[in-house]
Amino acid sequence: MAGITVVAGGGGFIGGHLVTHLLRTGAKVRAVDIKPLNEWFSVSDGVENVVGDLQDIAVCRAALKGADVVYNLAADMGGMGFIENNKALCMLSVLINTHMLMAARENGVKRFFFSSSACVYPDYRQKDADVPGLKESDAYPAMPEDGYGWEKLFSERMCRHFREDFGLITRVGRYHNVYGPLGTWEGGREKAPAAICRKVAEAKLSGRHEIDIWGDGEQTRTFMYIDDCLEGTVRLMNSDITEPLNIGSDEKVSINQLVDIVEGIAGLKLKRRYQLDAPKGVRGRSSDNDLIKQLLGWAPGISLQTGLEKTYRWVYDQVARRA
Ligand code: NAD
Repeated sequence: MAGITVVAGGGGFIGGHLVTHLLRTGAKVRAVDIKPLNEWFSVSDGVENVVGDLQDIAVCRAALKGADVVYNLAADMGGMGFIENNKALCMLSVLINTHMLMAARENGVKRFFFSSSACVYPDYRQKDADVPGLKESDAYPAMPEDGYGWEKLFSERMCRHFREDFGLITRVGRYHNVYGPLGTWEGGREKAPAAICRKVAEAKLSGRHEIDIWGDGEQTRTFMYIDDCLEGTVRLMNSDITEPLNIGSDEKVSINQLVDIVEGIAGLKLKRRYQLDAPKGVRGRSSDNDLIKQLLGWAPGISLQTGLEKTYRWVYDQVARRA
């Protein structure tokens, strides 16, 4: 009989979507998250939902009882505004990742996925808006995003060494900015696509046609729609790829272009106010998808226009309900 698939961080954005996705494939799923159940982004029927702090190894051991497959997405994280101001909290996720790996080994878990991040890439490769896409090998020599990025890079290496030394099958995906419905859209942990959708929706509903933009808006990024993230995650998990792999879009836009798209969807034009002192992150970042195409014969391909239409509609509904 197939064992249990555990989604750590199952009350979060990607974790919640992954639970729904895995249920459709017939998996027996256990979702674990530190948040009280009424704060989970989605709660699915037919899932064993567990509330617990995965920084505690006893909770990890209990969570992984009878587990064959583990997707570890639990982390204390958020957008730039959060990670630049909460480096210690971000680094404490190392306790989750360490204890989850130890408990996975003890419980004889067959496959373990770790959600790493584009924040492992060094600052010195991301100084221009027009940078080439980041290749997996660019992570070294290491100089990742302070706090959050160092923790992710360290945990990637723990996955490598648990595989090499203890034979635990580990897979590491480096997510590049994921967005979509059910993501954080207010409160300080939201990322650029959700924040911009919220600001545009607020402008539309209030009639105050202005928008605050962090930085000068010329910093570049890529954004991956949630469905591509799920597809890439499951494909990587089921593959024999042992090295970290980018899971990200390569459709690079500036933040100003991102605002243009959302304005187009909402059908309005806003006066832009640039907040030059706000957290901005690196100047330019994009995913190089040569390796994923070569190894998986697939890469994220949902356009920003398509993904943002769905996301804006969802965020608009949340803003309207709150108002
Ligand atoms: P999220 O914040 O929505 O989900 C993370 C979940 O982990 C939250 O529900 C949180 O309550 C839970 N968690 C935190 N500490 C915990 C603990 N001690 N015990 C149990 N649960 C705990 O974030 P997300 O966007 O769904 O991200 C999922 C994973 O993907 C994270 O590891 C994140 O670092 C990584 N990632 C996300 C993005 C992105 O753009 N969303 C980009 C790169 C990497």
